[in-house]
Amino acid sequence: MTQQVTEEQARQVAEEAREQDWTKPSFGKGVYMGDLDISLIYPQPKLDPEDVARGEAFLTKLRTYLEENVDPLQIEEDAKIPDHVIEGLKEIGAFGIKTKPEYGGLGLTWNYYLKALAVAAAWSGSLVALLSAHQSIGLGEPLRIAGSEAQKKEWLPKLAKTHVSAFLLTEPDVGSDPARVQTSAIPTEDGTGYIINGRKLWATNGAIADVVVVMAKIPKREGKRGGVSAFILPYDAEGVTVEHRNEFMGLRGIENSQTRLKDVFVPNEALIGGEGAGLKIAIQTLNTGRLALPAGCLGSAKWATKQAREFASERFQWGKAVGKHDAVAQKVAFITASTFGLEAILDVSARLADDNTNDIRIEAAIAKLYGSEIGWTIADELIQIRGGRGFETAKSLKARGEKPVGTEQALRDSRINRIFEGSTEIMHLIIAREAVDEHLAAAGDAIDVKAPAAARAKGAANALKFYAGYAPKLVVGEGNDPRSFAEFGSNAKHLRWAERSSRKLARSTTYAIARYAAKLEQKQSVLGRIVDIGAEIFAVSAAVVYAKTLETEQPARAKEARELANIFALQARARAEALFEEIFDNDDDANYAFAQKVLAGDYVGVEEGVSDPSELSDLPMFIEDSQKV
Ligand SMILES: Cc1cc2nc3c(=O)[nH]c(=O)nc-3n(C[C@H](O)[C@H](O)[C@H](O)COP(=O)(O)OP(=O)(O)OC[C@H]3O[C@@H](n4cnc5c(N)ncnc54)[C@H](O)[C@@H]3O)c2cc1C
Repeated sequence: MTQQVTEEQARQVAEEAREQDWTKPSFGKGVYMGDLDISLIYPQPKLDPEDVARGEAFLTKLRTYLEENVDPLQIEEDAKIPDHVIEGLKEIGAFGIKTKPEYGGLGLTWNYYLKALAVAAAWSGSLVALLSAHQSIGLGEPLRIAGSEAQKKEWLPKLAKTHVSAFLLTEPDVGSDPARVQTSAIPTEDGTGYIINGRKLWATNGAIADVVVVMAKIPKREGKRGGVSAFILPYDAEGVTVEHRNEFMGLRGIENSQTRLKDVFVPNEALIGGEGAGLKIAIQTLNTGRLALPAGCLGSAKWATKQAREFASERFQWGKAVGKHDAVAQKVAFITASTFGLEAILDVSARLADDNTNDIRIEAAIAKLYGSEIGWTIADELIQIRGGRGFETAKSLKARGEKPVGTEQALRDSRINRIFEGSTEIMHLIIAREAVDEHLAAAGDAIDVKAPAAARAKGAANALKFYAGYAPKLVVGEGNDPRSFAEFGSNAKHLRWAERSSRKLARSTTYAIARYAAKLEQKQSVLGRIVDIGAEIFAVSAAVVYAKTLETEQPARAKEARELANIFALQARARAEALFEEIFDNDDDANYAFAQKVLAGDYVGVEEGVSDPSELSDLPMFIEDSQKV
């Protein structure tokens, strides 16, 4: 039977797995708390010239390798990355880009790892999925986070050079809510290991992996906490079967599996980080790995910018280049400025990741959310700019003698970014949770309807004390002084807006907490807008800061960067202002109530008049029990 988990239990499990402490400063947290501290992101940490030299050398090698050996049209046609490409990528070190040299990797910085993913993404979406699933969520990352020295010594060198890896968390009936993991790991009677049973779905690289990390639940027993745990699983172990290679609307070349685990034995040494540590490891893996996905979005966005510019300036209709028609020009402006904004977000976050002095969990989460959403719109707008050619496949364009620009493929490939490694809806919840952390610490029990009366009263007293000190700080700040942030020249005004908006956002959040109390977590659309405004504030700050950094690091690009930051900031500010308008003035409640009636079948009349071909099969909507192996 499928184990049912209540909403509250699911939340409790997620809460326990969350990184609870803030031991380092966080710029992102300040954005949501009305305390925009630009000094946390500017001056940006300087790049070590040696790291840059090694990083640039690898990027050149990677670009050359792709150009000379990899045909992206063939990958799309065959829905497969050829074996020789996978072997070639291993040979140039692309499987161990950030693995330390003592474990056989290239030891490049996060900054260059992400740049490499962007290069791969611009060439082929399936390639970036292969490399990033292996290095960002595959076995190497959990080992880096929680592995023992012996585990690292045994596996990291293999992962850097020869072994493809995958991350097996999702199950047929366990998606966004990992509290329900059904795959079981039962300790053997002789105490030497565990027997794993279950079915894992959608594991990227899972169809060709050599070794994987698998999440499975150990039962609670005397003296042992049990719980979801992470295991190293060599894929040639007895009982491992790839049941199906999944096919998708995009990323046609990925080796994504449904994998069955039947009575698979793993020794005690395969357990990573102890019993019950699995969800924490999974969440931390996703937290750090989260920068990889937007790096892929950035690669595609850079490619899209080039395609938009070339087409909009070369294609003439109604007497002028289509880019001279205002409707198309707006799209070119959006694509180009957004690409710069995304590059800024990644550069700011990646340098902080390498510097390791800041907690970047919010920045990385925003990068994932923002990159996947804006990347999708970029791909969509590029199709519109290219008109019918945007909808035509690269293969077809080539066959009739035109440049094979795979615009429709870019859209299909990018769609999944809004779903995996934390869907947009889940990212909103994760960021909102981090954003209100201090409020919860202050007022937690006061807004918890289930807390005993005494605890609620104590919570209310704490909250009163906290807000008495906090609220006055949200009234005036640097952003009200027209002379502030002067070193950023003409873009200083955008930082002043960011500072003022950060305080306005914190005031809105405080009001939302007071207005909805414990019900706030159910107000997902309100929280979503709060999160999205914070994302725009972070993006504007990053763009201005990055442009300023480029002024010194690449003086030839100073003017260009300043102008790009300015246009991006104007666009981002307009989006944020529209969201501010809607935080509380919206139709959320009416829509929610209406949707519940839709689910109850009150409006099935709307569906009448057409047939549903999926009804020709009598298959269920989804398999309900991962344990049925
Ligand atoms: C191509 C591809 C590659 C993948 N690679 C991997 C991999 O390598 N390893 C792995 O373990 N998994 C992988 N996944 C799984 C992926 O991470 C999941 O699809 C994702 O977690 C969402 O789960 P789900 O599809 O079951 O959606 P569901 O959880 O069923 O969610 C359905 C919808 O409800 C929303 N929703 C769910 N809960 C909430 C909530 N509390 N509040 C608001 N909205 C909510 C979701 O956002 C979504 O829109 C992959 C999936 C695909 C398609």
